[in-house]
Amino acid sequence: MKITTGLLLTALVSVPLGSIVAQEEVDYSLVPVSDNVIHFRGGTGGNHFGTVLVTDEGIVLSDTIDPESATWLRDELKKRYDVPVKYLVYTHGHYDHVGGSGIFKEDGAIIIAHENAESDLMANDAETQWVSKRNIAMPDITFSDKFTIKIGGKNVDLVYLGPGHSESLVAVHYVEDKVAHVVDVANIKQVGYRTLGKPVKQYIRQLKKARELDFDVIIPGHANIGGPEDLDIYINYLTALVAQVEDAIAAGKSLEETQQGMQMDKFKTLKRWDEWFLLNVQGVYEQLKEAG
Ligand SMILES: [Zn+2]
Repeated sequence: MKITTGLLLTALVSVPLGSIVAQEEVDYSLVPVSDNVIHFRGGTGGNHFGTVLVTDEGIVLSDTIDPESATWLRDELKKRYDVPVKYLVYTHGHYDHVGGSGIFKEDGAIIIAHENAESDLMANDAETQWVSKRNIAMPDITFSDKFTIKIGGKNVDLVYLGPGHSESLVAVHYVEDKVAHVVDVANIKQVGYRTLGKPVKQYIRQLKKARELDFDVIIPGHANIGGPEDLDIYINYLTALVAQVEDAIAAGKSLEETQQGMQMDKFKTLKRWDEWFLLNVQGVYEQLKEAG
């Protein structure tokens, strides 16, 4: 099968238009972000993001979200393309991003993930049993630092970002299309989620490593897509947040005094500022205090 750009876009636009119009009510959509890479929205309210690369030798996916989203995705890809899903990549071993992967494994896809993804997935599984409840398959191929998928004349680089948000986080880099999928640690056009999680200093290291990739479009795990300038803003935001909170702790300030003294108004246009900025400060304050 030969796919030209024009044909690909026509085929894709016919279905997702409805989802763009009524985004609030639609959980699933596929919207192209470059010649060959498509932004997959799944999960409740379409708030979990995956990616799809279509080539004439087959399809590469990253993240299938949950069994319902994965079922929709499998059926939709079968309707639209006559090439199989060859590879499924896990951005990291968190159950809320890779549910339903067993559906693709049954169809013959090879699952590729960082060598720590399985232990991350199994970490709390004795209590939660998410792995079986969400039909999550374990990886067929694992790697430690970097792995390249070559398919249909394209390169997909999987780059380990080091410890921080999980022990298995990789950036999925569609080299020729200049698209990067960087989940959870990257917040695009918005502040961090609530108290941010930890350790925040490692998040900054992970983000800087992702920033070294050559991309025009970044697809995070949730919320908004953007460009490299948006990743720069978020790295600067976190860096300023940590530096100012560290200074406040060194000066013996309480959490409330720290929150009141933050000089970060230039980031105020980021989404969710009113809801989450003070929580971001609290999260960083508490973890830095705890770390001593
Ligand atoms: Zn995660």
